[in-house]
Amino acid sequence: MKKPIVAANWKMYKTIKESLTFIEKLNSTNLDFDNLRLIICAPFTSLNSLNNFIQSSNSSVELGAQNIHHESEGAYTGEISASMLSEHNIQHIIVGHSERRTLFNEDDELIVKKAKKVLEENFNLIFCIGETLEQREEGKTEKILEGELNCLLAIINKDKLGKIIFAYGPVWAIGTGLSASFDQVKDAHILVRKIISDYFNISSDQIDLVYGGSVKSTNANELSQINEVSGFLIGGASLDVEHYTKISKIINEVKKINV
Ligand code: PEP
Repeated sequence: MKKPIVAANWKMYKTIKESLTFIEKLNSTNLDFDNLRLIICAPFTSLNSLNNFIQSSNSSVELGAQNIHHESEGAYTGEISASMLSEHNIQHIIVGHSERRTLFNEDDELIVKKAKKVLEENFNLIFCIGETLEQREEGKTEKILEGELNCLLAIINKDKLGKIIFAYGPVWAIGTGLSASFDQVKDAHILVRKIISDYFNISSDQIDLVYGGSVKSTNANELSQINEVSGFLIGGASLDVEHYTKISKIINEVKKINV
């Protein structure tokens, strides 16, 4: 069985001190670290300290960044490059997050360039897709997910799939407190798995696909019951170590029972 993935997206929250307090507390919990993939996507400023902590404590927590520039270096004020990130042992990079798409005008063309860079530089890619409420209400969810996925699938070989975690996050459920229902999450996950597995002619259980959108300890149990969900990408609730730990325990237990 693949280990459930619990990826925290801290967005623009947490100083270095707060990040260290979180990981120290996380490390001292009785979580089943061997059977979970815990990923923390922290702000750039915290990556160095978190990496030092992970190395010195032999922690199995994996470190991720929330953005990357697609060029190797250059006059790009305020941006960050692959080599700068690899100095901190970053394993994962989020690309295509709805906040980057909407607030920073990242379109499919740019997202694909970033995704390509992430994979070329041998990081794991956390690739986010999802429809807006308007698109869902207009019955366009399938078309949108297919379009966003196809942009990426067209530029990768199937041997890269092991380096990709797909994250389905309906835009209307991210940071809003509104989680998608069991059926909405299940249907979208079945669809995403089908698109990818048909594209590469592979079995759909080879795909890592997580759900993101107001996951909390109160809905984690229900969402973990969905076989097609390999884990979660969590924003708001991942800022609190107790909530993050609770959600991780819930998915670990549910997936063990449902194996
Ligand atoms: C996210 O940032 O990807 C996310 C899912 O946020 P939240 O859990 O706050 O909805």
